[in-house]
Amino acid sequence: MKRIDASMHGVQWVQTSKESFQNTPYSGAGDFDLVVVGGGFCGLSIARFAARENLSVLLLEAGKVGCGASGRNAGIAVPHFPGGMTVEDVDAQIGKPRSRKFTDLVAGGTEWLFEEIREHQILCDAEQNGWIQPAHSQKSLRRIERVYESWKANGVEVQWLAGDEISERTGAKGYIGGWYGRTGGAVNPYALGQGLARVALAQGVVLMEQTPVTKMHKDGGVQIVETPAGSFRAKQVVFATNGYTPGLFPHMKQSVIPIRLFQTFTRPLTPEEQAAVMPMRQTFTDLRKGGGFIRLDVDNRILTGGAVFNIPGKRSYGVRHSNRFIEEIFPSLKGIETTQYWEGYCALTESSVPAIERLDDNVFAVLGFSSRGLVLTNTLGREMAHFLAGKKPEAELPLPIGPAHPVPFQAIKTFLGEYAFPVLQARDRLRLS
Ligand SMILES: Cc1cc2nc3c(=O)[nH]c(=O)nc-3n(C[C@H](O)[C@H](O)[C@H](O)COP(=O)(O)OP(=O)(O)OC[C@H]3O[C@@H](n4cnc5c(N)ncnc54)[C@H](O)[C@@H]3O)c2cc1C
Repeated sequence: MKRIDASMHGVQWVQTSKESFQNTPYSGAGDFDLVVVGGGFCGLSIARFAARENLSVLLLEAGKVGCGASGRNAGIAVPHFPGGMTVEDVDAQIGKPRSRKFTDLVAGGTEWLFEEIREHQILCDAEQNGWIQPAHSQKSLRRIERVYESWKANGVEVQWLAGDEISERTGAKGYIGGWYGRTGGAVNPYALGQGLARVALAQGVVLMEQTPVTKMHKDGGVQIVETPAGSFRAKQVVFATNGYTPGLFPHMKQSVIPIRLFQTFTRPLTPEEQAAVMPMRQTFTDLRKGGGFIRLDVDNRILTGGAVFNIPGKRSYGVRHSNRFIEEIFPSLKGIETTQYWEGYCALTESSVPAIERLDDNVFAVLGFSSRGLVLTNTLGREMAHFLAGKKPEAELPLPIGPAHPVPFQAIKTFLGEYAFPVLQARDRLRLS
């Protein structure tokens, strides 16, 4: 599969998106205060907030806006770190007091993003019905209790739910407890990206799609950014290229592990089926290694997914996995037809915390949002824009800026990542996750 696929072939979100934007071809000057590389949520956020601070901004996207992970994801807005990570784990990773800025960004991000969607009237089928992290095993219950206690001790509004309460809210079988975050929810992520591009253009951002950055070099203090459509001079450059990161700076590319994920959609549920399945439309993500997330879309299709097992029959393998998971938690839907399947890449860092990297004096990268990027790309992008515009000192950023650290054995880990899914599934079946 070609990694950057502007066609968005098979991505259901494109079919149901009510958002679009009008862009006029650019033929103006080649000098910018800031060039942003990558038209996903992160690049869009950096670009629009930097433009709001009066920087001249060029946003270059190799394919189309949202054709990376941003337009392909599950669209679940999660008010939490990845998996079983707690506030204290983040303190240990980053060190206080900066870690608390990062925690605030995660805890407050969902509320802020839904407010942005309302303010800019983005038609992305946003539903802020809350999000649940339920426990499917005794092992995960202990981890989820720890997460709940940590958020509560740090003053974040969270609610504990017993197994039967989870069952009432979600209609799902087998969960033995979990916590609920009121501010979570779900969106059509492709539509959100289109809407954010509309806002960015209105803010004065120059957007060029189908324009990959192919080379960069320095001329004095200025960066020369080369594309097939010509070169541009930039006082600052920031890469927001996620699991699609090019090899222009080898250490940047090696600083994350691109993981290929798949998504599946069922046919729409009938009204009777939907009354029993997710009656409150609250999305949830458990700690199963093989996925463990469920949501409904605007047409009441069920979305779930997992990591791609890169064998010739990978699509059927993925669909079988989704069907088994749906059947396990919603037995009444046994055999429900899957109508859509697609894939996308997300980028993992070793710590599961995103990285802000300094690649040169005036060249940065913001990447590694794992499977929790929908909100955090937007909030961290905003913070990064304030820094690039000179409105926020480096010490005030929620994450430190460091060099690009290559992940040890990155190429091997990337390769193994394409074949690890059956092992993850086996761990789930044995209740080891
Ligand atoms: C299948 C899947 C499901 C997910 N589900 C969720 C979820 O439910 N909730 C959640 O919070 N997160 C989820 N995520 C993670 C989330 O989607 C990402 O973390 C987030 O979208 C990353 O945004 P980004 O802007 O950093 O990168 P992307 O959206 O991937 O954008 C990077 C862009 O860079 C462009 N690019 C690359 N090289 C160049 C170049 N040389 N020149 C110009 N442009 C270039 C690419 O074309 C691409 O558009 C999921 C991810 C996947 C893959």
